[in-house]
Formats: sequence, C-alpha cells, structure tokens
Amino acid sequence: MPKFEVQTSIDAQANYCKNNHLPHFAPYDGLCWNCNQNIYLPGKRFWRGNFDGRESEGISVDKASNELVTGCPHCFRSYCD
Ligand SMILES: [Zn+2]
Repeated sequence: MPKFEVQTSIDAQANYCKNNHLPHFAPYDGLCWNCNQNIYLPGKRFWRGNFDGRESEGISVDKASNELVTGCPHCFRSYCD
C-alpha cells in the first residue's frame, strides 16, 4: 500500500530536487492551482477539466522521494510549461 502524507511528501520532493539539482515544479503546499486538490493525497481524476468518475492515486511518499513531480496526478496539468 502506498503511503500518503502531505508534509512528508512536500519535504521529500524538496529534498529530491535539491539533492539531484533539479528544478522544483510541484506546488510548495501540495495544492494544485488548476484543480484545487492536493497532489500528495488520493483524489478525483479530471480529464480536460471534467471529473471522469474515477479515483486518482495521488503522489505517495515513496514517489515524492524518488521522482521529480512535473504535473498533477489528478488533472494532469503540467507544472513545467
Ligand atoms: Zn490538478
């Protein structure tokens, strides 16, 4: 089971970017400015602005620690363009 903890993931992503000399794209409070959901928690999946009836997973602590976050896992909005 993936673990979801907002503050832990925020810190993990910030550290990941710093340690790998990568730009930090994710919102610093974890809130997606496009769909208003927290990217570090499970949520609702939006496709082209509409809720498509499915759940979206969100970014787990493990992912936030090991992968660069470049977009929202719920609405697929990119943070790096
Ligand atoms: Zn979003």
